[in-house]
Amino acid sequence: MPHVTSPSPLMATYAPAALTLARGQGCWVWDANDKAYLDFAAGIAVNTLGHAHPALVKALTEQAQQLWHTSNLYHTGPQLALAKALTQATGMHQAFFCNSGTEANEAAIKLVRKVGQHRQGTTTPHIIVFEGAFHGRTLGSLAATPKPAFHAPFVPMLQGFVTVPRNNLGALQAAITPHTVGVWLEPVQGEGGIHPFEPAFLKGLQALCHQHQLVLMADEVQCGMGRTGHLLASEALNLKPDVITLAKGLGGGFPIGALLATEAITQHGFAPGDHGCTFGGNPLACSVAHTVLTTVNTPAFLEAVQQRGRQLREGLEALATQKALGIEQVRGLGLMLGVQTQAPSGALTQACLQQGLLVVGAGPQVIRFLPPLTVNEDEVAQALRRFEAALASLTV
Ligand code: PLP
Repeated sequence: MPHVTSPSPLMATYAPAALTLARGQGCWVWDANDKAYLDFAAGIAVNTLGHAHPALVKALTEQAQQLWHTSNLYHTGPQLALAKALTQATGMHQAFFCNSGTEANEAAIKLVRKVGQHRQGTTTPHIIVFEGAFHGRTLGSLAATPKPAFHAPFVPMLQGFVTVPRNNLGALQAAITPHTVGVWLEPVQGEGGIHPFEPAFLKGLQALCHQHQLVLMADEVQCGMGRTGHLLASEALNLKPDVITLAKGLGGGFPIGALLATEAITQHGFAPGDHGCTFGGNPLACSVAHTVLTTVNTPAFLEAVQQRGRQLREGLEALATQKALGIEQVRGLGLMLGVQTQAPSGALTQACLQQGLLVVGAGPQVIRFLPPLTVNEDEVAQALRRFEAALASLTV
């Protein structure tokens, strides 16, 4: 297949690299000319088990021969099984399924507003969000994403979101009013540049939510599903959310999103007719996601993620000691690492591509490393060598 050239038949919502990918296996992808790339982007934290994982291929193809779609007018075995496994694994009470992160977040906004009407008795609810957050591109999630440039072409925005700085308990406390119904955070911010929240701040946040009966909402769309070396990033940071959203890594590449909530929330939550999703929780997606969950959620798998995360982090920190390479900071948890660089992220991702390494930018000067969680020791070492070569190519 030829590279896509202008004029493209696709709307210009992305600015993709001049690269057309043809196939993948494990942590590797090949382009149309059969050049191999080490995939440390993993579809932006999606390909949890790499490409063409045999267990996922089996789950998908077996389900494809049974039942593809029924709507939510009927139950299916895969949907009930995934809801049971996910709620058990996360300590939540019930699940709602949809197809993407932004849809899961839209559902979360509606759920928390409804609970807020019950708890606070307000019909002008506010949800507190944080600087640097990214919750998605549909109008509710976008309004909760405090980026004026993202809003400008699409005003008027949905009202009801108040932004405070990260890790500032005084600012959080000052923002709480009788109309505040929830506090919403990504335990590790992804698009905002890989920023884990500070544990001491989270402890204070948890206490404030308890004190004011606010719903603590964790957007784990990017940082969840084992990426930090814990099933949930909230676990890694000792946070106990009332509401969790998942997507990206949940389906390992098959589209699915989920909203999870505790019983204290669901008892005042959705009733029939309040919300819905035609494709949500379809049997294909649920069979695949169930296989992802059972594969990831074992102590041995999560320990391996932590080990590979340590190896990658130590390697990046070693590169940071070579001043000429221009690495300013390495941050993140597990296999969700960000490197703050002097080089612009656009030029650096392009240089990485030349070295056969796929990575993702996060803002003007941060590169994200989000490999499949199945990455091995040799692949991490190879990625570090390729990244060093890419950095060096920009400094000459
Ligand atoms: N929430 C977070 C934390 C994300 O990183 C993203 C996507 O990058 C979203 C929500 C939106 O997910 P989707 O692109 O599946 O709608």
